[in-house]
Amino acid sequence: MEKQVVVRFAPSPTGYLHIGGARTAIFNWLYARKTGGKFILRLEDTDAERSTENSIEGIIEGLKWLGLLWDEGPNFQSQYIEDHQKAAQKLLETGHAYKCFCTKDDIENKREEAVKKKTTYIYNKSCRDLTCDQVAKKEAEGLPYAIRLKVPDGSGSVTFNDVVYGTIEKKYVDIEDFIIVRSNGKPLYVLSNAVDDIRDKVTHVIRGQDGLANTPKQILLYNALGASLPVFAHMSLTLDPKKAKISKRHHGELVAVHFYRQHGFLPWALVNFLVLLGWATSESREIFSKEELIDAFSLEGISRANSVFNINKDDQKYFTDPKAININAHYLRTMPVEELLPYVKEQLKSEGLWNDEYEANRSEELLDTVELLRNRFHLITDFTTIGRAYFSDDYFIDADSLKKNILKHPELTQWLSNLADKISSINIYNAKTIEQVIMDMAGDIGVKPGVLVSGIRIAVTGHAVGPDFIRSLIRIGQDKVAERLAKNIYYESDL
Ligand code: GLU
Repeated sequence: MEKQVVVRFAPSPTGYLHIGGARTAIFNWLYARKTGGKFILRLEDTDAERSTENSIEGIIEGLKWLGLLWDEGPNFQSQYIEDHQKAAQKLLETGHAYKCFCTKDDIENKREEAVKKKTTYIYNKSCRDLTCDQVAKKEAEGLPYAIRLKVPDGSGSVTFNDVVYGTIEKKYVDIEDFIIVRSNGKPLYVLSNAVDDIRDKVTHVIRGQDGLANTPKQILLYNALGASLPVFAHMSLTLDPKKAKISKRHHGELVAVHFYRQHGFLPWALVNFLVLLGWATSESREIFSKEELIDAFSLEGISRANSVFNINKDDQKYFTDPKAININAHYLRTMPVEELLPYVKEQLKSEGLWNDEYEANRSEELLDTVELLRNRFHLITDFTTIGRAYFSDDYFIDADSLKKNILKHPELTQWLSNLADKISSINIYNAKTIEQVIMDMAGDIGVKPGVLVSGIRIAVTGHAVGPDFIRSLIRIGQDKVAERLAKNIYYESDL
């Protein structure tokens, strides 16, 4: 029987879930789903000073929102410190590690010497060959010690085959006898991470490229602990348009998953976009449903070349990669409208525009409004910005469109107020009767119907362009249309 695939997403909870982390989580989750394996969430919270509750909650919430549900966890690395210490103890007992009594000052002096000589500092192994008696004596004196791994001597090297980066070799002589437990008893991250993976029987370590530097050391730990090696797949970097690495420090909220949620992204659209940062199928297809993506995914498709995330801090409309916005628009326009509705509801609620009546008596109407609007929208937030007039009387009128129109046809002021009366007095308010009123009036005053149409549209919806005109008037309703035309924004404006 083939071994069950076990993967894990192991974020350090020191900040919000960012898109780089989400991408790592996505690849792990996909691989687990693809292979029928297990996906573990492990929070690497051993850095007590930098780990926060807020960050833990944010990561968990972000993953749930994205739909990346884990099969085990969340496990907290801090609860396994004893395991890490025991592993170090075992390494001491088996002669793979040794106690190092060098003080911080000793090491600092050596480091400074190396800097002066313009050589790279590598620990000189001075404690590696202490005899048992020497060690016992130092311990009896109460001298603190760190534990270091004995890197094999000789001209050999650690060689491994990374799924993404290929064969990687690091010579033993270039790896110092690294510390695995500090003199205060705290295990080092490099040890904790490997011990947790061994205990959890992780078969595939899929993580960011920054993990690559630690991998040779971890392989030495695996070997010393007699554990079999997992497959390693390190993902390439994601760069900004100026080719700088995407980071929380430089890009702030623009790389936070919650920022995309707040700005109107659908979770699956974001997953679909992020997976394309560094992974592709041979036919360079871009839109994948969940099932399609699980089916198409393979570790071999992860690209070695760095990807570019075209975030744009200075563009209001396209605040992020246009491709991400377009993918979002695709889903927003094509998913079953019933599935879209909860997101619209959440958005309306957040803007104080949700009306319980929608659920009680007007759910059909709401569905129809959403259906009408969504074909023009890119983001969920569009429902309460450009689509606000469909849900509230307190909507924004696009000043530029208004200006253009009123300059062209100053008489619109009068026309629209007359039209308000005519709309009010329609007996049966439907597409036919509305059209008739507008056509008649255009005929009477001798303008093309289009002139009235754009005047009405701006007054009633706030925008010069929008979805199907007559359907919009029906959706907004006879009373409101008449009211808005009578209110006559053209008078009110100070143009
Ligand atoms: N905790 C590490 C990080 O957040 C992940 C290390 C790993 O996946 O092995 O970068």
